[in-house]
Amino acid sequence: MYTDGKRLWDSVEALAEYTDAEMPFSRLPFSQMHGHARKKLEHMFRGADLEVRIDSAGNLIGRLEGAKWKDRVIMIGSHSDTVPGGGRFDGIAGILAGLELAHTLKDRGVRLEHSLEIVDFLAEEHNEFGVSCIGSRGMSGHLSSEHLTIVNDNGESLSAAIDRMGGNTIRLGDARRTDRDLHAFLELHIEQGPVLYSTDIEIGVVADVVGIRRMEVEVQGQANHAGTTPMNLRHDAMVAAADMVVAVNCEALKLDAEGKSYFVATVGRLCVSPNGANVVPGRVNFVIDARSSDDKMLERFAVACDAAFERICEERSTKYCSSVSTDSPSTRCNSRVVEAIASTCEALGASHLRMSSGAGHDAVFMGKIAPMGMLFVPSRAGISHSSEEWTEPAALHLGTEALYRTVLTLDKCRIED
Ligand SMILES: [Zn+2]
Repeated sequence: MYTDGKRLWDSVEALAEYTDAEMPFSRLPFSQMHGHARKKLEHMFRGADLEVRIDSAGNLIGRLEGAKWKDRVIMIGSHSDTVPGGGRFDGIAGILAGLELAHTLKDRGVRLEHSLEIVDFLAEEHNEFGVSCIGSRGMSGHLSSEHLTIVNDNGESLSAAIDRMGGNTIRLGDARRTDRDLHAFLELHIEQGPVLYSTDIEIGVVADVVGIRRMEVEVQGQANHAGTTPMNLRHDAMVAAADMVVAVNCEALKLDAEGKSYFVATVGRLCVSPNGANVVPGRVNFVIDARSSDDKMLERFAVACDAAFERICEERSTKYCSSVSTDSPSTRCNSRVVEAIASTCEALGASHLRMSSGAGHDAVFMGKIAPMGMLFVPSRAGISHSSEEWTEPAALHLGTEALYRTVLTLDKCRIED
């Protein structure tokens, strides 16, 4: 191994100190603690001889000039913010792996041909502005002027919040990067799911990141007295909704069982109206979150749900309407980058698995402007977005070593799809 597992782990522990004391391990986007952690990161970047700046979209960037292709960058990035009660690894692991890589280059006296940039993307997690992946959106040109004017509960606009974190949104365009200056983008991330852990596989080579379709459904019945309305004369929106939730699960199981592509669907939010113990529910609203690496499957799922919902409403004397609130297509990783990661794992003797990412990442936005690839390291028991989130030091070290060697490989080759 070229990378230093002890130094890497020390950096994980150093950043874990930057948490809301009442709610370990939280570093909410745009919070004071998030700002403090980024100051620490800045200091750590400098310790690896990186030249540090914050771009106009608020991304913290550490840069090492290349020997030959100064204007072509190999970029490694992830995020230092967390969800409430978040974890010590989600996001930050990818930044610290990049930092360790910079240290290793320095120790070994290796100068890359391409310039190297390690990026802490601003506010990847869901936040009070309702827009995630803010930094990587800004860098890839997907942060609009409408986004910037969104105001949080304290009356602060998103643009003011980005500026407070060191950005300069009046010149947001300066943060824009394109495939002309990006040779490749890599993100190491914890898997946040149980696949690697349960199969004892060391590294996940991400082939694609799932597309997400969210559908808002409203079921309409008739609110009425729970004591006086006979069973056969009810228009109970809740009973219809319950059947619908089961139907969503059945359709998802069928699509998953086809075995061709990753498919999951969830109803995790449901509101009953009027929500009284002695009232037959008159209205239910729920949200379906469906994800797949195959966009056509999401389409088929929506059609199947509609057919099932029609039938259920007929049976249950209710009506429904639905609308799509999120529809983002799946993202394929660059095949050359995927190959480079897989053959690096091979050479390292690390067990690895091609897999889909069921969660969104900054890499999705970066994949729009650069040849992109991702590596996953195992999450203990598949737990994430929790203070129990854990990745073994040796597992993180191995992933970081694979990242380092992949960068050395990509530095020497042309990347096309
Ligand atoms: Zn993350």
